[in-house]
Amino acid sequence: MNKTIAIIRGDGIGPEIMDEALNVLAAVADKYGHVFTCVDAPMGGNAIDKFGEPLPKDSLETCLTADSVLLSAVGGPKWDGMPKDKRPERGLLNLRSGMGLFSNIRPARIFPELKDASPLKPSIVERGIDFVVVRELIGGAYFGEHTTTKRGGEDYAQDIMGYSEHEISRIAHVAFQTAQKRRKKVCSVDKANVLDSSKLWRRVVTEVAKQYPDVELSHMYVDNCAMQIVKDPSQFDVIVTENLFGDILSDEASEITGSIGMIPSSSLGEGTRGLYEPIHGSAPDIAGKNAANPIGMILSAAMMLRFSFGMSEEADAVENAVNTALRDGLRTGDMMSDGCTQLGCREMGRAICERI
Ligand code: NAD
Repeated sequence: MNKTIAIIRGDGIGPEIMDEALNVLAAVADKYGHVFTCVDAPMGGNAIDKFGEPLPKDSLETCLTADSVLLSAVGGPKWDGMPKDKRPERGLLNLRSGMGLFSNIRPARIFPELKDASPLKPSIVERGIDFVVVRELIGGAYFGEHTTTKRGGEDYAQDIMGYSEHEISRIAHVAFQTAQKRRKKVCSVDKANVLDSSKLWRRVVTEVAKQYPDVELSHMYVDNCAMQIVKDPSQFDVIVTENLFGDILSDEASEITGSIGMIPSSSLGEGTRGLYEPIHGSAPDIAGKNAANPIGMILSAAMMLRFSFGMSEEADAVENAVNTALRDGLRTGDMMSDGCTQLGCREMGRAICERI
């Protein structure tokens, strides 16, 4: 296959971890006979320095015409004092809305070798943690009307949480299709005992489920789900939920795996073109020191192979290479423990390439 990938190298550790993800993609291309054409799309602080804006028009165009987009991370103290619409993060928000990315997928997966890093009890971790949170990204309370008025002589603020059938249906499809590529279980999370938007959510998700008879659907209230994620995360395969609940639950889900440098994410719109990025930031404190963990970035590239390019075998190869490197005792500084071998970012990238 021939695929074009827009590359956002970003700021801080961004270019270092991106180099390793690109080396891994080159190894995949080599092994499976694909051609990946990578086109740079400057965004973030470096784009502000060069072009005076966080997301130059040409960069957005590059992302909109590529088959998919890989992003490391943007931002840093150098640009903290910029006006709001000129900050690096603005580039990211504009990119997400410009690409119409309504779904965010974040896996929560514990690597057996790193299980001590989880804040959960070993007896819980041993049952396994391997699920994904599919979060609706451009609806709900964050995008509803926000007003602050006076009521009874005091300030009164409200944020409207609204969903249309169409908005619920399209994210539900993403969840069911994600589950079809996994263990075929979807847990839809809402607050249907209280909220009308959740009642509609539950009804529409249940209707969409009829198109996926191979996937088992269950429903759970959000407060119970928050509890179940720490009590027995092994029960989950795919969790689908609205924007605000998903924001909170996906952070909780990341935290129980224990390691910020390891976690990838993807954001998708209507088509197969997505935005893939690790969940961490640009880590300015370790930038340029060859100390960053490139695994979250590399696993983001694996997600791109799986979800945007339909290359499951290739994605498995990358994920297995990461697992093998960890099993061989290789670690970057952030996850170093006794008896293991500490590597720099470049050396970890090379070790993963060698295992593909
Ligand atoms: P951060 O995630 O960059 O760093 C938090 C801590 O985790 C630091 O100690 C850092 O060294 C460590 N860390 C993060 N990623 C690591 C990796 N791959 N390997 C090893 N250690 C790693 O969060 P922060 O310090 O709050 O933010 C730094 C900058 O990143 C800020 O400008 C922030 O706005 C930006 N940011 C960008 C994104 C994004 O681009 N999506 C997300 C979050 C933060």
